[in-house]
Amino acid sequence: MRIVDIRETAIPLKSKLANSSFDFNEMTTSVVAAITDVVRNGKPVCGFAFNSTGRYACGAQMRARFIPRIIAADPDTLLNERGDNLDPAKIFAVMMRREKAGGHSERSIAIGTIEVAVWDAVAKIAEKPLYRVLAERFSGGKVPMKVFCYVGGGWYWPGQTIKDLQDEMRRHLDAGYTLVKMKVGGLPLEEDVRRLEAVLQVVGSGEHLAVDAPCNFTRDEALRYAKALSPFKLRWFEEPCDPLDFALLAELAGVYAPPLATGENLFSTQDVENLARFGGFRADRDVIQIDPPQSYGIGQYAKTLDMLARHGWRRSSLFPHGGNQMSLAIAAGFGLGGAESYPGVFGDFGGFADDARIADGAITLSDRPGIGFEGQAALYKIMRELAGI
Ligand code: MG
Repeated sequence: MRIVDIRETAIPLKSKLANSSFDFNEMTTSVVAAITDVVRNGKPVCGFAFNSTGRYACGAQMRARFIPRIIAADPDTLLNERGDNLDPAKIFAVMMRREKAGGHSERSIAIGTIEVAVWDAVAKIAEKPLYRVLAERFSGGKVPMKVFCYVGGGWYWPGQTIKDLQDEMRRHLDAGYTLVKMKVGGLPLEEDVRRLEAVLQVVGSGEHLAVDAPCNFTRDEALRYAKALSPFKLRWFEEPCDPLDFALLAELAGVYAPPLATGENLFSTQDVENLARFGGFRADRDVIQIDPPQSYGIGQYAKTLDMLARHGWRRSSLFPHGGNQMSLAIAAGFGLGGAESYPGVFGDFGGFADDARIADGAITLSDRPGIGFEGQAALYKIMRELAGI
């Protein structure tokens, strides 16, 4: 058993959206296919992944270093002990050969995307959904039937009115979601508060609404927003400042009582440990949103969870970033707080299986083997063509 080829291609997301600091006009993602010599139903088993959303395609590093290292390795050294499946940890170790400490995001996204594609292949070879494989390995075998899921929405777009924003939020509630998130920081504070109050009219109360700031508030802006948002008791206030400004995060945690959230821009276990140690983040309420394919993949995510547990964090406080089938499988498999969803956003890459259903804020899981991309017709077409199957 071996990986015979790993292919990657960069695909534009074709998104017209903007958050408060940049637009997605040029945004791309790397799609990866790990092609094995295992044959099922007359076709090779292929593992697929993409590098989530918000970070550009990273094929150069994959082609120059990580794919050649895997292909050059003795295939028998990449198998599990029984020799009946690939071992993602061994494949990860091969990718990390001759890599210097630190500088994580230069490689964590490329490595993580390949690693997640390997997990997809592992689950398909085992003929199980990935969330089941992960639950058996990392969560005491607890396999959920559904996963809490919230909408990352409320983007800014040209010509948008407050009524447009309210209509969007109403659509999310009608679709079955119970928690929605909107962007803040793209307009003056007073206008943002007006937008927020309009959304609160639709969703009812602060526990049904989270806000997402642009990671670039100055100290003064962050403190002004914290003061203004505090009375609304929102579900969380996300990215209130630079993701690596742990001193300012700690200062905000000292004055803002409701939950804060961050983590999608941290790419290593050490970065997240620094957040837990120095960022003032409160394990009893705050939310950590690491994106596993962007931060070395699933095996490293498991190590990050162990580290966070040592700092008193429960898995229910973790919501993986991404709004896609990968983060859904990971949220389900590790028993996390929930997953994000971007309905109708990010073209073929956002969202879940075409037959997934949302009810009472939770999404049903399919029993397709692997991550389940085969249930997303438009996305799977891209992946199938890449793999040539
Ligand atoms: Mg965010």
